[in-house]
Amino acid sequence: MNFKNTIYTVLIASIFAACSTDSTDNNPIDDNGIITEETKELNRKNVGKSANDLLSDDTYKSVVFEIFYVKDHKPTDETIANFKSFITERLNKSKGWELRLEEITVPAKSAYTIDDIKAMENNLRTQYNTINKVAVFGIYLDAEYADNTPEGSVLGVAYQNTSFAIFENTVKQFSNKPLAPSKTVLSSTVLQHEICHLLGLVNVGTDMQTLHQDTAHGKHCDIENCLMYWTAETGEGLLNSITGGNIPTLDVQCIADLQANGGK
Ligand SMILES: [Zn+2]
Ligand SMILES: [Zn+2]
Repeated sequence: MNFKNTIYTVLIASIFAACSTDSTDNNPIDDNGIITEETKELNRKNVGKSANDLLSDDTYKSVVFEIFYVKDHKPTDETIANFKSFITERLNKSKGWELRLEEITVPAKSAYTIDDIKAMENNLRTQYNTINKVAVFGIYLDAEYADNTPEGSVLGVAYQNTSFAIFENTVKQFSNKPLAPSKTVLSSTVLQHEICHLLGLVNVGTDMQTLHQDTAHGKHCDIENCLMYWTAETGEGLLNSITGGNIPTLDVQCIADLQANGGK
C-alpha cells in the first residue's frame, strides 16, 4: 500500500519527560535546524550502526524516543514505566532522554511487511539525529508481521539502526492465551529486546567481551534466561520461556558488552 497520500490523524500527543533535566530548556541542540534527506540517512542504516551513539555520551548527549501507536494499541503505563527504568539503567546520557508518544489512525490492514513499516516511518517520523541528540523511532501496530510462520509469531522487529516495530495485536493475542504472562510482561520483554538489538546486542555493532552469541539464531545470546535469548521475539517462544511472569533481564555477558561500548 502506498502511504504517501494517506493522511494520518494525530489524535493525542502525550509527552513524557523522563529526563532529570528539562530537555527543552537545557537542550544545547538547535532543534529548529532544517532536516534534509541527507541528515535523515543517518537514521536509515543497518541495525547496530548506532549502538555506540545510543549507549555512550561521546557523540550524542541525549536521546529522544518517538513512539507512535495505532489507536487501541498503546503500550500500557506499566510497560512505559518498565521501559523508562531500563533506559535509565543502561544508557549513558548526560543530558537525559525523553519519550514522545503519539496516537495514529491507519488504514485497516491484516499484516505488515518491513517495507510497509518503513513507508509509515517515512510519513510519520519527525525526530532525526541532531547535533547532540540521537533519535529513535518506534511503532506499535494493529496487525501481524507479514513473515510470520506457523511456529513463529513475531512480536517485534528492529529493522534499522534507530527503528523498531512492535506487533501489539499479536502481543495481545498471546497474552490472552491460558496461563500466558500478562500483556505488560510480554510487551515489555519484546520492547526491551528490540531496543537491545539497536544497542548492538548480540555482536551486531557492540563487540562481545566474551563469546556468548547463539550463532544458530543470529544476533542472540546463548544464555537461556537472558533477555537476548532468541525465543524472546516470538509469542510461541515467550510462552514457553517466561516463567513466573517476570520480564527476563540481561545476563552479565550482555551487560559487559554494553558497558564496554559506552553504556552503563
Ligand atoms: Zn532478537
Ligand atoms: Zn545475554
